[in-house]
Amino acid sequence: MDDCLFCKILNGEIPSTKVFENENVYAFKDINPMASEHYLFIHREHTKNVNDMSSHPEQLAQIFQAISLFTQESSLEENGFRVVTNVNRNGGQTVFHTHFHVLGGEPLKGFGS
Ligand code: AMP
Ligand code: ZN
Repeated sequence: MDDCLFCKILNGEIPSTKVFENENVYAFKDINPMASEHYLFIHREHTKNVNDMSSHPEQLAQIFQAISLFTQESSLEENGFRVVTNVNRNGGQTVFHTHFHVLGGEPLKGFGS
């Protein structure tokens, strides 16, 4: 997608701080972190949100395999973390390339805590 911020990050037009990559998935630090650790996991194939990605279930599996590998290699899994994906206006989606926020590094507020 020509006009997609995260496609531009994928092709190097816009800089990012990589934390994980493989042939299908790329992950980088969120520019406006909402927790002491805040990463965004994206697929190299453009889809606009998780419902759109659900037409390509292998992409969902690849993303969650990447999150699993990444969090097991750091202290995130042991200490706990949260995965969030926002969809459209009420969900607060601002970038329309499917992404999964991975948050951790401290006790997280909300969702019952
Ligand atoms: P969402 O609101 O769920 O669509 O999330 C978009 C996220 O992208 C926000 O948390 C932003 O802080 C983050 N973001 C926007 N631009 C960049 C960028 N150039 N590099 C890293 N993160 C970004
Ligand atoms: Zn894109």
